[in-house]
Amino acid sequence: MALFTPLRRWQPAFRPFGRLPVGWRLLAFVERAVKGPLFGCRMCGNCLLQETAFICHMACPKGIRNGPCGGVKNGYCYVDPTRKCAWYLIYERSERMHREKKLLEVLPPVDWDRAGGETWAEVIRKVREAGPGNIFLPSRRRGMSMGAVLEEKVFRPIRQPDWWQGDAEYHPPAVDGPQSELEKELRSGRFVITTEVMPPLGAATDRLTEKINLVKPYVTAINFTDGSSAVSRMSSAACSAVAVSLGAEPVMQISARDNNRNSLQSQAIGANALGVRNILCLSGDSPRVGLKPRGNLNIIDVDSVQMLWILRRMRDEGVYLDGREIKNRPRLFLGAAAAPLLQKPELQVLRDMKKVNAGAQFLQTNLVFDPDSLDPWLESLRREGVPERAFVLIGVSPLKSLRLARYLNDNIPGVTIPDRTMRRLADAGDGFAEESIRITVENIRRLREKSGVHGVHIMPLGWESAVPRIIEQAMA
Ligand code: SF4
Repeated sequence: MALFTPLRRWQPAFRPFGRLPVGWRLLAFVERAVKGPLFGCRMCGNCLLQETAFICHMACPKGIRNGPCGGVKNGYCYVDPTRKCAWYLIYERSERMHREKKLLEVLPPVDWDRAGGETWAEVIRKVREAGPGNIFLPSRRRGMSMGAVLEEKVFRPIRQPDWWQGDAEYHPPAVDGPQSELEKELRSGRFVITTEVMPPLGAATDRLTEKINLVKPYVTAINFTDGSSAVSRMSSAACSAVAVSLGAEPVMQISARDNNRNSLQSQAIGANALGVRNILCLSGDSPRVGLKPRGNLNIIDVDSVQMLWILRRMRDEGVYLDGREIKNRPRLFLGAAAAPLLQKPELQVLRDMKKVNAGAQFLQTNLVFDPDSLDPWLESLRREGVPERAFVLIGVSPLKSLRLARYLNDNIPGVTIPDRTMRRLADAGDGFAEESIRITVENIRRLREKSGVHGVHIMPLGWESAVPRIIEQAMA
């Protein structure tokens, strides 16, 4: 375990691709020898230690550079529950060091050209470019300390290369008018309801069509999951295209787990050409929770925050990540997931703000069974002005069985079912289905009264037939 990164490194450090000149190799060797024992450095080629409170985020099994994901449970990582979540530790230490605002900056993905190479020579190059006198004689730059000059002239340009230019600012959408029906409805101020249809396991679309047609008249949009729980099914893109052909409004989910920076951009352009306007960016469940044989765990090329940043720039600036111009820009309404009850509300809000700054225009939360438990999170969101910048849809679900309720409560990070709800369900006997629907209706009504909540997202968990009844009763 490294001295300043209290986590064991689960993967060795990267080696450079190709053969570097001797001087560079020597420098990389020294850097590896020093930063390995100190920080568990994996030589990613773009050191972010200053932003991550000197804990190397590359210890995260998913390689997330703008974490944490939604899997942290009591501070531990769901991919390997014996390990503390790297990002949780980063948040905790940042808070202690009063550096938590640093966590708002949208950090770039790894530049694989640089992985395994040194980063120190780059610092020397930038100091030379800026002119050592301008940095080390701070009095010559009125009002700026040497640290601030170093940050502006040296560290920031290294950390935020020209092809990324991430920051901690909010970027309002640079487009006129709503990009999708979902956005239009949310902007109207009406309480919006979306739902989810599980993509089929086979290639036939008859059941999928049936489910879409069943819920379409009741909801504004339908989400299609993208290999949730790391299990293969029909793709979200294909289901979204089917929904468009049926006159429904899809929300295509894209998981970082199954995409790299190229496929993400291709998927967005392709789906947009087919009429898909709403995209929800997710990190995705680790293959570790999926079925065997286990897929590669070390695969995240871009995380959900980076996905939002890339897609927002495609829409607003008309550029691919590599700088190529997009003549016909995609029309996109971008969303992200939120997990309000996962950890301390203030930390969770920092993460949500980062997603909104990166480009998220709506947030769909994971399952909430006690609307009032959201109050501290909603209060923190309101304090930071998030509901003015992004629409908030709270996840609700009718529970089909007591077994499912217990499973969700015991196993899914951030999901808690109150004892009183469990008791009501347990006492319901033959009236279980009715009681479950009644509870969901009550929760939606309660959520409608909350300031900062723009709608609900019903996740039926395979019980789509309950959706029309729930909506009819909740909106009556
Ligand atoms: S995979 Fe998620 S829970 Fe595990 S360390 Fe990374 S961010 Fe934390």
